Amino acid sequence: MDYRPNKNRYNEMTYNRCGDSGLLLPAFSLGLWHNFGQTDSFDNARTIVQKAFDAGITHFDLANNYGPPPGSAETTFGKILKSDLAQYRDEIIVSTKAGWKMWEGPYGDFGSKKYLVSSLDQSLQRMGLDYVDIYYHHRPDPNTPLEETMGALDLIVRQGKALYVGISSYNAVETKAALKILKEMGTPCLIHQPRYSMFDRWIEEDGLLDLLGNEGVGSIVFSPLEQGLLTNKYLHGIPESSRAASGRGNGALEADQITPEKLDIVARLNNVAKERGQSLAQMALSWVKRDPRVTSVLLGVSRPEQLEDSLRALQNPDFDQEELNTIENILSG
Ligand code: NDP
Repeated sequence: MDYRPNKNRYNEMTYNRCGDSGLLLPAFSLGLWHNFGQTDSFDNARTIVQKAFDAGITHFDLANNYGPPPGSAETTFGKILKSDLAQYRDEIIVSTKAGWKMWEGPYGDFGSKKYLVSSLDQSLQRMGLDYVDIYYHHRPDPNTPLEETMGALDLIVRQGKALYVGISSYNAVETKAALKILKEMGTPCLIHQPRYSMFDRWIEEDGLLDLLGNEGVGSIVFSPLEQGLLTNKYLHGIPESSRAASGRGNGALEADQITPEKLDIVARLNNVAKERGQSLAQMALSWVKRDPRVTSVLLGVSRPEQLEDSLRALQNPDFDQEELNTIENILSG
């Protein structure tokens, strides 16, 4: 059936400026790490993307290795772009990345120019695109000179294959060095993609958020729900359809990470969320969004209803000091 986007979509979303750049990103973006692979339901994936676009989500976050198998999330997204969103390409920001292992041999991993350039060519082919809007180096590479990796990002922009560049999971020291090189090359870093949630606050402690704020670089945070742990779904056991039950590996949440101590904290946070009239997912998303240096929050959803639930966080984004203190007390155990 023909897809006709919601005409009201841009009134449904808040858009934030990404650092000091000219680019606005939606407060929530859609991530395609899980649930968009060849082994997942295409119809479900397509409905999620359509509903996201209908809700004003203009930004879709991919990586070369998302699947399974690796590459297949880009293929799925390319199909959806072609069937439903081709005429809206200029209303959409597509991101992809390279940095984790993608293919066998010495050229399919980490941060060499050889890897980054050839991987983007593959990503473009899978998605049926001429260019991506944002291309990231996915993780720091301790063995490749930073000048080479950043030089690859700069080259890709000059070739017209990406409009902007970003880095992911670089710590504050690594980020500072990368920003300097990129600035000198004339391709400023647009955005950093770190992990951030109530359970993982390294970007506050490491000084990364301060650095990004001072340097005018945006941020988009991943796993804001700690892969589903910061929802009410695991309070009474592990549901069969959940990520923790999926056995996907590759960094996905596993049953033994859901400890009684964590669940105790989750239950107490759930009570605070109830008092705010929100689901815990909505509260956890609002909480990462409370810092203005967070440009956008990545939503990973396994079904359309979760997207609808999470987006309702936009209706109650603010915390009073008492709520923040209560949450701090709970998180500190
Ligand atoms: P989350 O922490 O938000 O976890 C998503 C999972 O939480 C869903 O699959 C679902 O679990 C559950 N969930 C989501 N919304 C709800 C809801 N409203 N109610 C109940 N449960 C809910 O994010 P992800 O870990 O998926 O990461 C998001 C995105 O970040 C990725 O898609 C990717 O784009 C990016 N990312 C980037 C990385 C990087 O290295 N740069 C690394 C990891 C992610 P279930 O499946 O059990 O239903």
